[in-house]
Amino acid sequence: MTMADCAVCHRDTTPGTHICPGHGADLRAWLAELPGQVKLLEDEFVAPGTPGEGRTGIGARQGRAHAPLPVDLTVLNLLGPGRADPTGPDDDGEAPLLALLSGWAGYIAYTYPSVARDQYGTAHTRPCEKAVPRDGRSVRRTVPGWCAWLTAYLPYAGGHPWIGDLHDQVGRLTARIRDLTHAVPHQHPQTAPCPRCQAFGLVTVDGRPGITCTVCGHHLDPDAYARHAHEVLHAHQTAAT
Ligand SMILES: [Zn+2]
Ligand SMILES: [Zn+2]
Repeated sequence: MTMADCAVCHRDTTPGTHICPGHGADLRAWLAELPGQVKLLEDEFVAPGTPGEGRTGIGARQGRAHAPLPVDLTVLNLLGPGRADPTGPDDDGEAPLLALLSGWAGYIAYTYPSVARDQYGTAHTRPCEKAVPRDGRSVRRTVPGWCAWLTAYLPYAGGHPWIGDLHDQVGRLTARIRDLTHAVPHQHPQTAPCPRCQAFGLVTVDGRPGITCTVCGHHLDPDAYARHAHEVLHAHQTAAT
């Protein structure tokens, strides 16, 4: 593995980074998607069911006067408190959402070099100790708050091999929540074939920047796709005449 391998797919990527544009786009999209997914999950969980409706959803209730049906522990655990050690050996993919996100923010903050000056004016580089998500002046230790914090630090995180673990854990977290909400971002197939594998697998995905091949994982930014599609069309038209 060279210094410029993607920590997820091990393909060459920009020197000094450890994630390719496609896998970086995954992370950005998941962090943008998670707040909405959590909202869906919470709404579903607290919404009372109507008797006789045959509702079997998460946290379904037979009207408010009766005891609630046994709640879905998967959802409670996911939305509940708890601790997560993002780089620990015992990550079983079951960490609660907030714990996982804040655990990663804490880890990133700890490794992020901040420069402080002592009373003699000498600069010392040391870890910045705390991750605190803010919205203007107020502190937001919420899923949207942590997602925004992590998104802001992605360029920094991309310079380290552990970005692969972050990608893996946030990806599995997003998949767990999609399993419960059944809300999956829409894919929109593109007309031109993939410039790398030639398959008709290029799609855009709601909330995800750029265009990705579902067959080989190749990632293009919109400008690159537009140029490529133009060339394909042009070659096709030239061949036809
Ligand atoms: Zn990659
Ligand atoms: Zn492809």
